[in-house]
Order: sequence, then structure tokens, then C-alpha cells
Amino acid sequence: MSSPPKSGIKVIIVGAGFGGLTAAIECHRQGHSVSIYENFPALKTLGDIISFGANAGRIYHRWSNGKIAQRLRELSIDLTSYGFRIHKYDTGEVVYHQPTPPQDPTAPVFNGHRGELHEVVFRYAKEELGIPIHLGQRVEEYWEDEREGKAGIVLKNGERVEADLVIGADGVRSKARELVLGYVDKPKSSGYAVWRAWFPNTDMIADPRTREFCANGDTFNGWIGPDVHFLFSTIKGGKDCCWVLTHRDEHDIDESWSFPGKLEDVYKVLEGWDPTCRAIVEKTPEADLVDWKLVYRDPLPTWVSKHARILLLGDAAHPFLPTSAQGATQAMEDGVTIAVCLKRAGKENVPAAVRTHQEIRYDRVRAVQKTGETTRDRWHKTDWAKVAEDPKSISFPREDWIHQFDAEKHAEEVFDDIFGKVTNPDSEQQSTLLPVGPIGPTPVAAA
Ligand SMILES: Cc1cc2nc3c(=O)[nH]c(=O)nc-3n(C[C@H](O)[C@H](O)[C@H](O)COP(=O)(O)OP(=O)(O)OC[C@H]3O[C@@H](n4cnc5c(N)ncnc54)[C@H](O)[C@@H]3O)c2cc1C
Repeated sequence: MSSPPKSGIKVIIVGAGFGGLTAAIECHRQGHSVSIYENFPALKTLGDIISFGANAGRIYHRWSNGKIAQRLRELSIDLTSYGFRIHKYDTGEVVYHQPTPPQDPTAPVFNGHRGELHEVVFRYAKEELGIPIHLGQRVEEYWEDEREGKAGIVLKNGERVEADLVIGADGVRSKARELVLGYVDKPKSSGYAVWRAWFPNTDMIADPRTREFCANGDTFNGWIGPDVHFLFSTIKGGKDCCWVLTHRDEHDIDESWSFPGKLEDVYKVLEGWDPTCRAIVEKTPEADLVDWKLVYRDPLPTWVSKHARILLLGDAAHPFLPTSAQGATQAMEDGVTIAVCLKRAGKENVPAAVRTHQEIRYDRVRAVQKTGETTRDRWHKTDWAKVAEDPKSISFPREDWIHQFDAEKHAEEVFDDIFGKVTNPDSEQQSTLLPVGPIGPTPVAAA
């Protein structure tokens, strides 16, 4: 795509996660002037496995003619020949061997180490596109001024920065969300937590019970049990190992959601399971085990501030359960959509662009969010007699309506229609449009 003309629209993005970075890269692609403010003082390769569906791959592929997608590919799991092997938790038998669909080179799928993939995207934005990313800058306040047609942020050092639009891509504990909603919307426990770990294969190779997972390239296996599932991958030709175990957990997660994990606790959950699972878990250095509470939020009534100059994006607007494998991808789709809306609406119509974005995205995000629960429940409440009759019923769903979606094409196609409804005060559909914040009084704290 040749660069579009400069729009003259200035955008501030808070947060340099995948959501914020993608929004910045897409704003840059669409001709807006963008800068990022991030609390972290330095780039760190944090986290473990993260998934991007083909609907994210389609976005990445457009960056520098596939160059970035190629870099991500080299760091990601390759399951072309291995597929996904799904085991019954106690007997260990493979009940379904799900083949890997052929890769579409224009919409590749990536699963890899979050920190490593994040670094590629971060460096692309900062070093190749020259997007200013201000690290070590904690945003303390958000404001908007309707008369001036401006919004802005106040940094911890007191500095005020203003723009035409502020995007709060500040994650699951978003501060921007407070201003948009007008109340503090506390996360609640989803009732589940995951233990997760990433470590080198040395001990796995040394043990004949686990060697097969690392000796012949990348692998992906899942063990499905009552209210628990255990996913295990080997990556980079089997050199790195990663597992994620989802289980019931009702702990209060008011302030923190990530803790050091204890192997003894994992062993308890794995009692009565295929011994291979324990043989894998035993290789985990305890210092690398994370106990990650799965935070959930009812869908927010709005992602848009009162004067529509502050927009919530990514996890700040809609946290996902890992079983959807779509959290980061949906954050990316958000970034693509707002960049298109701003380009199409122009500098004079930033608030209408923001509301159009919300209308375009809201229902799709809710529907994709729901798949996190349906996939989890499909696995956690497995009817094994049914699986014996129809093994495919236990597969990991890869629905076309999610993966074949092209966020940029879609936004371009529906923009005129939705923008027309948002900007026409006489339109009958006005009453059906989503609200903007702040919304009502402080709600009762989530149970
Ligand atoms: C450290 C970390 C590790 C993660 N590891 C995994 C993982 O292993 N697997 C997985 O599937 N998902 C992981 N996630 C979550 C995943 O990255 C997100 O769900 C997804 O990518 C959506 O991204 P996001 O950009 O909306 O939010 P996030 O990735 O959460 O990014 C939000 C960013 O905003 C910054 N921020 C927050 N408040 C402020 C403020 N007041 N001022 C300035 N900056 C602020 C944060 O430092 C953060 O970098 C991790 C997230 C983080 C932050």
C-alpha cells in the first residue's frame, strides 16, 4: 500500500503492548501522527506463550510487505507435520489428532514466546517506523476538552501532553477505563487460573519418558480432564518447552493476578492423570512457574469517553480468556479499525470516527470473547462417550468467522454506512447506537 496523505490527526497511545503497538503502527500507516507512552522503563522479554490467529497474521503480513511476518514466523511454533494431539487425561490415549490447516502466506498463524514476538513488533515500530515510544512514563490522568476539541494525558512527572485523540491501550488494569466509565470497574475472578511455564529442553531430552517431545521438532499436545486442561508445546525445533494448565481457582484477585507458582500444587491437580503430564511438569524450574489468575470482566457498556476523544482498546476494553486464543489478536483488530476510521472521517470528525470504531467492533469482540468460555466448557465438561463417536467434537475450534476476517477490509467496507448513522442526528438508528461514557453510578463491586 502506498502511504496515504498525512491526516494531520495527532494520536497519543498509552501502553506499548500488542494492542498499543499495533494501533500506533496502523495509525502511522494510515497517515496519522502518533506517539506512545509506556510505564515500563525498558523493553523486557516478559511472559510465555501467546497465540495469534490468521486474522492477526493478515495484519502483520501487511507490514513492510511481509517482512515482519517473516521475522515472527522464525520465532514461532511450526506444527505443519505434528498437528495437535488431544489426549484423555487419565488413560493418556490420543482421542483426536487435529491436523494443522495449510498456512495461508498472506494470513499466517503465530504461536511463540510473548516477549520475543513483542520485541519484534516493538523494534519495528520504534526503530524502523520511527514512532516515538516514551518508556518509563506512567500516565496518571486523562482529560478531554470538548470546546478545544482536544484530549490529553498527565504524566507522573506532571507533564501534560495533548492530542486529537488518546487511546488507552493500558491493559487489564486500565486507568483510562476509569475516566471512560466514570467508575472503577474492578476485575473479577473468572473462577479459573493457569499455571504456566517456559523453559529449555535439557532435562526433557535426558528423560526417555519425555524425550520424544523435543527430539524431532515442534510438538503440541493437550490433555483434557474434568474442569482442568493441560497444554504442552515444544518450540524452535523442540529446544524450548512451554506448558499451560488451566484449573479451578476462586482466589480473590483484587490487586494482583500473577504470582509465583508451586510445583506441589500442580502435582495435586494432576493426581490420577496420565503420568506423562507429571513427567513434563517435573522438568520445570520452580522459579519459572507462574500462577496467573484469569481475570474476567463483564463486557463494558462503552469504550468511548463522554466527548469521544478517549478510546479504550485491547485488554483495557475487553480482557479475553486464553482458551479463545484471541486476546492479542482482537487488540490488533481494534488498532487497525480505529486507524481506518480516523483516516476516513478526517481531522474535523475525530469523535465521530471513534464512535464509528466502537460500532464496528463491539458485537464482534463480544462474540469472540464468548468463545473463550465455550471452548473451555467444551473441554472441561467433556462427554467421553460422545467423543468416542465423534472425535472431532473435542478439537480446538478454528472458526472461519473469526480467522478469515480481514479487519482492515471490513472497516473500509462498512465505514460509510456506520459513520452516516453516527453523524446523522435524524437517523432512526441513532437510538440503537452504543452509548458513550461516563455510564451511571458506581456499580456494585463484582462478586
Ligand atoms: C508483562 C505481560 C506479560 C504477558 N504475558 C502473556 C503471556 O505470556 N501470554 C498471553 O497470552 N498473554 C500475556 N499477556 C497479555 C497479553 O499480552 C494481552 O492480553 C494482549 O496482548 C492484549 O494486549 P494489550 O496491548 O491490550 O494489553 P497489555 O499487553 O496488557 O499492555 C498494556 C500496556 O500498558 C502499560 N500501562 C498500563 N498502565 C499504564 C499507565 N498508567 N501508563 C503507561 N503505561 C501503562 C503496561 O505496562 C503494558 O505494557 C501479558 C501482558 C503483560 C503486560
